[in-house]
Amino acid sequence: MESATNSAAARLKGLDYRVLQQCMHCGLCLPVCPTYNDTKMERNSPRGRISLARAVADGRLELTSEYAREMYFCLGCLACTSACPAGVNYAEIFEHARAAAEEERLLNSPLRRVIRWFTVKWLFMDLRRLLFLGRLIRFYQAIGLQGLIRKSGVMKLFPKRLQELESMTPDIPPKFSADMIAEVTPAQGKRRFRVAMLTGCAQDLIFSEVNRDTVEVLARNGCEVYTPARQSCCGSLHGHNGEYALAQELARRNIDQFPPEQFDAIISNAGGCGSHLKHYGQLLASDAKYRDRAHQWDAKLKDIHEWLAAIGLAPINDPQPPKQKATYHESCHLCHGQKITAQPRQLLKAIPGLDLIELPESNWCCGSAGIYNITQPEMAGKLLLRKMTHIKATGAEVVANGNSGCLLQLVNGTKQMGLNNRVAHPVTLLAEAYRRADAAKKLL
Ligand code: SF4
Ligand code: SF4
Repeated sequence: MESATNSAAARLKGLDYRVLQQCMHCGLCLPVCPTYNDTKMERNSPRGRISLARAVADGRLELTSEYAREMYFCLGCLACTSACPAGVNYAEIFEHARAAAEEERLLNSPLRRVIRWFTVKWLFMDLRRLLFLGRLIRFYQAIGLQGLIRKSGVMKLFPKRLQELESMTPDIPPKFSADMIAEVTPAQGKRRFRVAMLTGCAQDLIFSEVNRDTVEVLARNGCEVYTPARQSCCGSLHGHNGEYALAQELARRNIDQFPPEQFDAIISNAGGCGSHLKHYGQLLASDAKYRDRAHQWDAKLKDIHEWLAAIGLAPINDPQPPKQKATYHESCHLCHGQKITAQPRQLLKAIPGLDLIELPESNWCCGSAGIYNITQPEMAGKLLLRKMTHIKATGAEVVANGNSGCLLQLVNGTKQMGLNNRVAHPVTLLAEAYRRADAAKKLL
C-alpha cells in the first residue's frame, strides 16, 4: 500500500510536476510577494514555496505541519503570477499543496476539524444554510442585541481574538438577492444578449445590493438576465482550502444549473469567485463527462467589468452630476487572477462627475484573501494598515472595489482608522449614476 506521504507527493507530482519544473528561480516574483516583503525569508516567497512543493514531489522532503503552515501563510494573492516571466501556474501549485496538506491531516486539531467541517463542508455546500445563519445574525442585529452586547463591555471577558472576530461581523442587509431580483429580468430596450447571473455566497449574504445593481446595469445595457433564486457556491473557498473534491462537486453543480450553451455569458461580480470560476476546465480535466462543458463554461464566464467594457457601456446622460472623488483598489484575483485592470477604471471614468485618483500600490493585497484575515490576523492586519494608509493619502471619498472579501476588509479598515470614506462596488456606482440620469431626465 502506498504510504500517506507518497500519496500526497503523488498529488503534487502527478498534477503539477511540469508546473513545478517551470520555475527558473529568477526571483522576479520576490519583490511583489507580500509575505516575503514582510519577512524577507526565502521560504515565505513564491520561489521558496515552489521549491518546497517540488522537494515533496521529488521525495526529498517529508510533509510536515511546518510545510502546511507555510502553505497557509501564503495569501494566494497571485501577485507572483503577474511578475513571473516563465508563466508559472502558481495557482495550481498552491491549490494542490494545500490539498496535500489536508489529505495528510497535517494541521489536524479537534477545533480546526470542527470549524472546517461546519464551514467548508456543511455551511457553504448548501447556501440555504448560510442564508439561514445570515437571517439569525440579521435578527440579532435588528433587535439591537449586538449593539447592547458591544456597549455593555461583556466582550472584554472573552479572549482578545474572539473580540476581534466579533468586531468584524458584517452588517447583514434586510434583503438577500432572491428577495430583490426576479428569476428573469428583461433587457431594457432591444435584447442584445442573454446572460446568467451568479449571486455568490458572501456576496449574497453581505452585499446583495451589489447583485441587484449588477442585474439592473446589465438590463440597462441590453441583457436579459437569468438569476435563479437558489444557487450554489462557486467552490473557491473549497479549492483554496484543500477540499479539491468538494470544489469539483460544486463546479459540476454550477455547470448543470447554468448550461453554458444556453447563455451568451455567465456573469460574476466578485473578483475572487470569477478567478476560480474561469478554471472549471482545469478543475474537471480528469472528468470525462464534464471536461468539454467545463471548457465551454470557462469561455462563457465573464467578470462584470470585463463584460460591460466588451459590449460597450450605454452612455450615462446626467447634466448635473454630483462631484465624487474616488479611488480604486484592485482585487488580487481580478487583476492577477483574471488580468482585468483597465476595464474597472474605464467604467468608473464613464460616471459623470467622478474624479478617479490612482491609488498607490492599488494591486497590493489588502489582507482579506478569502478567509486569510481570520486565519492569519497578524499579517492581514499589517496589509490592511498599509492599504488604508494609501487610501487616506488619496483623500478619496469613495473607494471602489470589485470583490466581496476586499469590500468587507476595506469597510473594517475604514472603521478601524476612523475614516469616513464610502466603500462601494463599481457596478453600484454605475447603477446610481444611471438612476440619477433617469431622475434628471424626468425633471426636464
Ligand atoms: S500568492 Fe501572493 S503571498 Fe503567495 S507566494 Fe504568490 S505573491 Fe506571495
Ligand atoms: S518569477 Fe517565476 S520563474 Fe522566477 S522565481 Fe518566481 S516563480 Fe520562479
